[in-house]
Amino acid sequence: MNRSMNVASVLSFAVSLVCCGTAFAAITAMGNWQGTWYGDSGTEGTLSAQVVDEGKGDFRASLKADVGGDAREGIMRGKVVGDAIELKGTIDVGAAFGGVYELWGKIVGEKFTGRFAGAEDQGRVELKKVLKKSPTLGAEPPEGAIVLFNGNDLSKWETKDGKPNPWKLVDGAMEAGGGDIRTKQEFGDFKLHLEFMIPIMEDARGQGRGNSGVFLPGNCEEVQVLDSFGWETDKGSCGALYDQKPPDVNASLPPGEWQTYDVTCLVPRFDEKGSMTQKTIVTVLHNGVLIHDRFPAKRQTARRHGDDNRRILLQDHGNPVRFRNIWLVPAVSN
Ligand code: MG
Repeated sequence: MNRSMNVASVLSFAVSLVCCGTAFAAITAMGNWQGTWYGDSGTEGTLSAQVVDEGKGDFRASLKADVGGDAREGIMRGKVVGDAIELKGTIDVGAAFGGVYELWGKIVGEKFTGRFAGAEDQGRVELKKVLKKSPTLGAEPPEGAIVLFNGNDLSKWETKDGKPNPWKLVDGAMEAGGGDIRTKQEFGDFKLHLEFMIPIMEDARGQGRGNSGVFLPGNCEEVQVLDSFGWETDKGSCGALYDQKPPDVNASLPPGEWQTYDVTCLVPRFDEKGSMTQKTIVTVLHNGVLIHDRFPAKRQTARRHGDDNRRILLQDHGNPVRFRNIWLVPAVSN
């Protein structure tokens, strides 16, 4: 980027800051925050927050505090007021430390400050915005890998009825739109790496908030793609094996940031009569965190894993989710 572009971007950012206080607050507040609580009595501990934009100027912060060596969770809710977000909530620090405490907080730009008060203590909190990155982001395809999307070639994918891939190329990614797409190639066991970015859809909820999915061969098992940052997990949230099993951990990053899946899939085994002797076995790392460990998927039909059905499918759920850096190592071992 040259200097004049830099100046132009800074100016345009400054203009948006002046014109659009709400949008500015939303963009800078949503994400991961890390900091410390300081009790007036001299105690202190670590504190983290996941701030979620719930649309129409509403925000929620899910807090985790280390209190006497235990992780304690709290929730704050609030609204945009001018260029700040003002939040209120509670945290239960445990009976030994005085039970439920009240919290007041304010986010201005990259600073999140506040106070707490309860039966045994009171004090202040300070947090800073942190950018977390998946350790496998940008992973290079190893020798022997099959590259399924390298940033500019849509041709390894097609629609479910064999027509050309209708998804758009945007900034080195392919963006969902025009229907589900499947690989042209068929696979047995494999290890798959892919990267995805969920759009910011602050007014949307549940299955409408940045939905897509990675369907494993057999077209039955969906590794869900959804904006679940800061939300409770369930069988439909990001990383879930859809309708079967929630992820073991909510490893989601905020929408608008690149995330990774590293999926090991062992396809079902059948005997000579066509009866299944081993289900699909799925292991998934979401942003480098193990969320399914050799899980025997349940939705696999008893139907033989037909030759027409050994493909990977990416879901178009009507939301402009982007994918990039997709590659696969075939025939991994158990
Ligand atoms: Mg989905």
